[in-house]
Amino acid sequence: MSTYLFDLPKAPLIPVVGEDKSYPVGRIFCVGRNYAAHAAEMGNEVDRSAPFYFTKSPTAVAPSGITTPYPPGTKNYHYEMELVVALGAPVFKVDAENAWAAVYAYGCGLDMTRRDLQIAEREKKRPWDLGKDVEQSAIIAPFTKALDIGSIGEQKIQLKLNGELKQDALLSDMIWKVNEIISHLSGFYHLRPGDLIMTGTPAGVGPVVPGDRIEGQITGLSPISLTIGNPE
Ligand code: MN
Repeated sequence: MSTYLFDLPKAPLIPVVGEDKSYPVGRIFCVGRNYAAHAAEMGNEVDRSAPFYFTKSPTAVAPSGITTPYPPGTKNYHYEMELVVALGAPVFKVDAENAWAAVYAYGCGLDMTRRDLQIAEREKKRPWDLGKDVEQSAIIAPFTKALDIGSIGEQKIQLKLNGELKQDALLSDMIWKVNEIISHLSGFYHLRPGDLIMTGTPAGVGPVVPGDRIEGQITGLSPISLTIGNPE
């Protein structure tokens, strides 16, 4: 039997409220343009025919409460406050009605973005990886089990930068609902426990600088925070 030449980092773990064990992160799917007002502020039309996605590596996960260095290669690092959906059951080609059963938990997330690189990639019709798959750019707060939340809809989703309210919306403002995203995505992937979906950000995104403090919350979930440190 062969053995590994070297060890890789283990899957990141996200605490779960009320559980001793933590949730290991497999894949991270992110939905683009899922709030009409945010699509508009980015100069885009919303395509209501189907959601679209980009991904972040699980190695991009960082816990709430930490300080992350201002990343290399950007002069316009942005916050995006998002609802994160953590899957707890395998689903493939599931319809929207049955997709809810795949949800294990919800959490607050920050999809930190090198906006200048994302826009440059977009304009050149290139993939968004340099803009989006940034080290320590997927900040994830502790999860709350779906059974403890109830239905998703009228909860507020908010972000403050240095105490000033910047993003303020309702989860019901999402164009593609949680179950519709899972159903659609399951037409392309064998979704499984460990898969996370970052469901897109409302309007009000903006840049950060070293020393900035981000605080986000979604009604009923553990809050999230992040401090931006100096570049390495
Ligand atoms: Mn996002």
